[in-house]
Amino acid sequence: MIATLDTTTTIVAPATAPGGAVMVIRLSGNRAIAIADSLFRGRRPLSDAEGYTLHYGHIVDDKGQTIDDVVVALFRAPHSYTGDDIVEITAHGSEYITQEIVRMAIERGAMMATAGEFTRRAFLAGKMDLSRAEAVADIIASDSRWSHMVASTQMRGDYSAKLGALRGELLRLCSLLELELDFSEEDVEFADRRMLRSLLVEVDNQINRLCSSFAIGNVLKNGVTVAIIGRPNVGKSTLLNALVEDDRAMVSDIAGTTRDTIEATTIIDGIRYRFIDTAGIHATTDRLEQMGIERTHRTMSNASIILHLTTADEPTFEDVELGPEQHYVRVVNKIDRYAKDNRYDSDVIPISAQQGTGMTMLRERLRSIVDTRGLDSGSVIVTNMRHYAALKSAHEALGDALQAVDNDLSGDLISEDIRRILHHLGEITGEITSDDILHTIFSHFCIGK
Ligand code: GDP
Repeated sequence: MIATLDTTTTIVAPATAPGGAVMVIRLSGNRAIAIADSLFRGRRPLSDAEGYTLHYGHIVDDKGQTIDDVVVALFRAPHSYTGDDIVEITAHGSEYITQEIVRMAIERGAMMATAGEFTRRAFLAGKMDLSRAEAVADIIASDSRWSHMVASTQMRGDYSAKLGALRGELLRLCSLLELELDFSEEDVEFADRRMLRSLLVEVDNQINRLCSSFAIGNVLKNGVTVAIIGRPNVGKSTLLNALVEDDRAMVSDIAGTTRDTIEATTIIDGIRYRFIDTAGIHATTDRLEQMGIERTHRTMSNASIILHLTTADEPTFEDVELGPEQHYVRVVNKIDRYAKDNRYDSDVIPISAQQGTGMTMLRERLRSIVDTRGLDSGSVIVTNMRHYAALKSAHEALGDALQAVDNDLSGDLISEDIRRILHHLGEITGEITSDDILHTIFSHFCIGK
């Protein structure tokens, strides 16, 4: 942990996951080039080479034996990801080779990097602000078109630019208000209170817009949870399998087979959906089943969409209590077997999970619940709980500032509230951070990033 604070040490770690054809081992720090030179034999030493160059050669062990043929990429401070000298060694994808290179680098004075340490150093060196550093982790984790889109917008810095503009406005106001203090004898107002008020309202509107984007941002980043509910044997497991086109759930004829919740995920038009097949809700004395049913209730309350399944021979839907933000989709299954000419309410989707009938309509309905119209690659959307909490606190401080203006309080009191807003906005971009926050953020990164 101490190593993460000390940016003078040189760190080393594999930057790629095992199993690929090649592996990249990364060194960063003021001894990176010297350490790499002690392992690398090329046409000339890396210490003589310029930054942004590639070098072919081989890595030798302590006895001068060749371990592997490699290509080395050299980046010189400050023009690198971390701002320090960086050497990236691309070797063949053998775990043994990787381990040997890392071991030898450590023997020659490097330290094993902790999770996220390269990106943390980039942040501390001012290469990127905190929200952009966090987006690096999001982009690596992104697994759908939309989760990638929001992460890459954040990584490119559109979000930081928006927050930066808000902070700039507020800082300007603060300086005007604080200037009044220097002239307090003369009773002057450098910051016109009417303008000040309308500016605060405008900033609050923008903060509120960002806060309300969190609902969609969270869905785009983490996916939509759909709880599939219904009586035993209506075909919940079969439907889950059909939705994810895979045999994840166990299907059987005995009512109550799905004792526990089973999940599977799939992507529908760029959005990840997480389907949870719940145990049927019905009276039972079986302890295991009862536990499954309790879990069903918990799953249901956390889901964004409740998909209620019934069958064509008994197309009734028991009453379901929905949360304020929950969407409800009613589906009738087994239309291949029973009463094909049944008439249903217009919102009910008839399907045969077994034969795949009606599945396109069902997928379209699920997708239409996530409204991505009007969003594009430049949309600034909050996807991060930490940012959302900071924006909410900024909004509260804004309320206080507005009240101070309305009550005609003195400039120094108003500026104190504005400083609080600045503080909370600064938490997002990292102008204001504690070591604990940094640790929490970067410890979720992988090693080598
Ligand atoms: P669950 O208890 O709600 O999870 O129900 P299952 O998915 O285990 O299905 C119960 C039975 O219904 C199994 O025998 C399935 O093969 C059958 N089943 C599921 N979907 C359909 C369907 O669309 N048509 C027909 N004919 N049978 C189905």
